[in-house]
Amino acid sequence: RLVSGQPQGDEESAVEQSLRPSSLDQYIGQSALKDELKVYIQAAKQREEALDHVLLYGPPGLGKTTLAMIIASEMQVGIKTTSGPAIEKTGDLVALLNELQPGDVLFIDEIHRLPKIVEEMLYSAMEDFFVDIVVGQGPTAHPVHFPLPPFTLIGATTRAGLLSAPLRDRFGIVGHMAYYDVADLEQIVIRSAGILHSPIDEQGAHEIARRSRGTPRIANRLLKRIRDFAEVSTSHDGIDLAIVQKALNMLQVDDQGLDRTDIKLLKTMITYYDGGPVGLNTLAANIGEETETVAEMYEPFLLQRGFIKRTARGRMVTARAYEHLGIPEPHND
Ligand code: ATP
Repeated sequence: RLVSGQPQGDEESAVEQSLRPSSLDQYIGQSALKDELKVYIQAAKQREEALDHVLLYGPPGLGKTTLAMIIASEMQVGIKTTSGPAIEKTGDLVALLNELQPGDVLFIDEIHRLPKIVEEMLYSAMEDFFVDIVVGQGPTAHPVHFPLPPFTLIGATTRAGLLSAPLRDRFGIVGHMAYYDVADLEQIVIRSAGILHSPIDEQGAHEIARRSRGTPRIANRLLKRIRDFAEVSTSHDGIDLAIVQKALNMLQVDDQGLDRTDIKLLKTMITYYDGGPVGLNTLAANIGEETETVAEMYEPFLLQRGFIKRTARGRMVTARAYEHLGIPEPHND
């Protein structure tokens, strides 16, 4: 899906790497969080201590991984990256912790998906820098106290609500990643176009920014596709408003950044459920998507832009959705 915040494949990630900003000053937007981090980083460096543990939460593609890498580089320490589902056993976690140098960052993406037993082992690792492991089996099994160097855990999650309270409470710094505004995304598009040697004018960059669902990963992905259109077009020297509009119409990304699936979701709510309320599971089944995908990728943006609202009995479409789709809103009188 073109306008999803999720990463897509290895080939893309190679280009994505080249577009990643590498310092806090190059990192565009999220200014409140950035300012806060600058203070904590400077203070930790002055005290020659590891930075406190950081939890970053927000929708996919907003730059959590990028920010974790920048934090490590600003702290001038190493970083190991992994993800919740990749750490299956406590032994996997011990192996990772064992490789850390004092002050290093351990980045765990999708931290809400850590197995419970691994999560519990993290508590002492985060709080007092040790883990207790059991060595041997059966009658010879005995606990071994395993001290760790001070380190910084950076956890990223799209669903802070799914994190258990004991884990959440062990993060000293909690950063909420908000959707980017159009001005910030425009700067990101211009920066990325420069790295890709792809000339773009301001109106073109603005239009891409407007249709990118507040998400840098989507802005970069749309830019790359539109660059293809511009390169094969004989009537354009670079990327301008006309080529952006033409390309995005062909890619079926509408004026508000909604794609076919968003439209299908809204129309399903209107056609089959009289605009709602309808539960998330039912809705997901109707449009042939996983509930989690709808909860993480479609719903937050549709909510944020006021196309749907949450009620105690389920999701409902808003007057704005009817207007956007050109469907008359029914009146119950
Ligand atoms: P996920 O949660 O899926 O891992 P993420 O939130 O960690 O996503 P990143 O992989 O860090 O997202 O960022 C996606 C892409 O967006 C990166 O390639 C990076 O180039 C770009 N990007 C993200 N944030 C910024 C930013 N603030 N300034 C410039 N580019 C950014």
